[in-house]
Amino acid sequence: MSIIDLRSDTVTQPTAGMREAMLAAELGDDVYGEDPTVNRLEQRLARELGFAAALFVPTGTMSNLLGLMAHCERGDEYIVGQQAHTYKYEGGGAAVLGSIQPQPLDMEADGSLDLARVEAAIKQDDFHFARTRLLALENTMQGKVLPLDYLAEARAFTRDKGLALHLDGARLFNASVRLGVEAREITRHFDSVSVCLSKGLGAPVGSVLCGSEALIGKARRLRKMVGGGMRQAGVLAAAGLYALDHQVERLVEDHANADCLAAGLRELGYSVEPVQTNMVYVQVGERASELKAFCAERGIHLSAAPRLRMVTHLNVGADAIGQVIEAFAAFRG
Ligand SMILES: *Cc1c(COP(=O)(O)O)cnc(C)c1O
Repeated sequence: MSIIDLRSDTVTQPTAGMREAMLAAELGDDVYGEDPTVNRLEQRLARELGFAAALFVPTGTMSNLLGLMAHCERGDEYIVGQQAHTYKYEGGGAAVLGSIQPQPLDMEADGSLDLARVEAAIKQDDFHFARTRLLALENTMQGKVLPLDYLAEARAFTRDKGLALHLDGARLFNASVRLGVEAREITRHFDSVSVCLSKGLGAPVGSVLCGSEALIGKARRLRKMVGGGMRQAGVLAAAGLYALDHQVERLVEDHANADCLAAGLRELGYSVEPVQTNMVYVQVGERASELKAFCAERGIHLSAAPRLRMVTHLNVGADAIGQVIEAFAAFRG
């Protein structure tokens, strides 16, 4: 039985071409700055996204952490969404390791943060308060793409308020592919951007932080400090380069499959949220665990949540979508 795993786009297996690229990678010691493949990946993404420099790191969590710590000192504060990865899903790292205070705010339905509410949360220059330094956004946010106009407004707003602007772009390319623009049209509004290679792009490991020379210089020091300095990391960077060459445009297929899954489930009477990229959110109510077990018997791996998230990716083909819809139909009875 072949497995259909819809829990996340992190479950993707390296393709044959990617494995070959990893095998053939030219290597050196990246802590000495001597891994040619890592250097190529960093230079390429920096150039492509419009930044002066970039840094390859093992995970998106580390990439965001280094970004926040490079922008903020102890006792500084970042403003962030309640549901944002950089607030909710990173073990409190910015606070624990960076002594940076988060100021979480409720998010809007489209995944943005209302800039009037952000403005109201900025602390005055007063020794009672942490120093508000940074606004962190996420794109895509639970599969939703932030509008380009909003990004331009957030850029102008943060410039006006003297704040830095960071993007958790774990799924940046899902956003750019959906909008039909170069990723740079999104990233040009930010001071720093973190991109994951290990989600829909299909690499086994790796994220890249992009920013100015000064910011990335700081982040490089911090990366060593938190234990993220890797040696012959080109074997991993090669997977990232391969993904950028071969597995970006195909994200449209994941988006089409997600659309198709959503449509099929709606036909069965399920309540499904509008789909923009590769995530389908469906209300399954209190039968979530039962549904998970039912589907597992049919080789379909799901999470168990009343608001169930299903994620399409390169190991879920169009035929698999039909099987998933059939399983939901059978479950419904
Ligand atoms: C996955 C993800 C990250 C980083 O995750 P790692 O598992 O640490 O690589 C960051 N932000 C978002 C929105 C993510 O989905």
